[in-house]
Amino acid sequence: MFAILSDIHANLEALTAVLQDIARRQIKEIYCLGDVVGYGPNPVECLDLIIEKTRWCVLGNHDYATLYEPTNFNYGAEQATFWTREVLEMRRDQDKNDLRWQFLGSLPMRKILKMDLEGQEVVMEFVHASPRRPINEYVFPDDVYANPAKIRMLFDRIQHICFVGHTHMPGVFLEEPDFYLPDELGQSYPIVEGEKAIINIGSVGQPRDRDNRASYVYVDGNRVHFVRVPYDYETTIKKILAIEQLDRFNAERLRDGR
Ligand code: ZN
Repeated sequence: MFAILSDIHANLEALTAVLQDIARRQIKEIYCLGDVVGYGPNPVECLDLIIEKTRWCVLGNHDYATLYEPTNFNYGAEQATFWTREVLEMRRDQDKNDLRWQFLGSLPMRKILKMDLEGQEVVMEFVHASPRRPINEYVFPDDVYANPAKIRMLFDRIQHICFVGHTHMPGVFLEEPDFYLPDELGQSYPIVEGEKAIINIGSVGQPRDRDNRASYVYVDGNRVHFVRVPYDYETTIKKILAIEQLDRFNAERLRDGR
């Protein structure tokens, strides 16, 4: 059994709630698809928890932006990146701080695991955004209708299963192409031989599917379970509003999950 998290975005209340939910299910193995920082008020605390609790993490566009420079970011996201960098540079706990920068600097672009799930050998790929452009490409549910060629091209690149985050919208893409919301799947998807799937696990710290609860998945046997966890977003909103460099919009959107 293992859990996968993505897009924490420095939201400590959401991350803590999700980690509690994972502990309650007795899941010991946790992977992360990146964007640990950006937008939110607690980058240091979230980095420390991800370093401590997860087996590995891949590089997200906001982690990249903090480390190097923001590319194609809107004003709010860019300001948040600069603020995050400042906070990480100001810390006095030098040893721990070196560890945080080292962690960010060593994040791989992708992970590939071969696992035996219920007697079938499954190749699983893990990236932040897409199998073609692991850090920056958005794969939206609408692409299924608006740009089916794009989805088919992405499927050409994967062997079987690919887990992604980045859009903050959970669901399963199939090769048709087709997209299914977790609700349409009864909150779980069975991994089967011969059916490729790109599985978006949603966002812990900034859900954008009109559901304000934190999103993550866990895999038990051959089933991917979509989970939503309520958390105290009013506290996160207050913290963001108190930091001048962080955009109001990135606080208020937490209430509506948009
Ligand atoms: Zn993100």
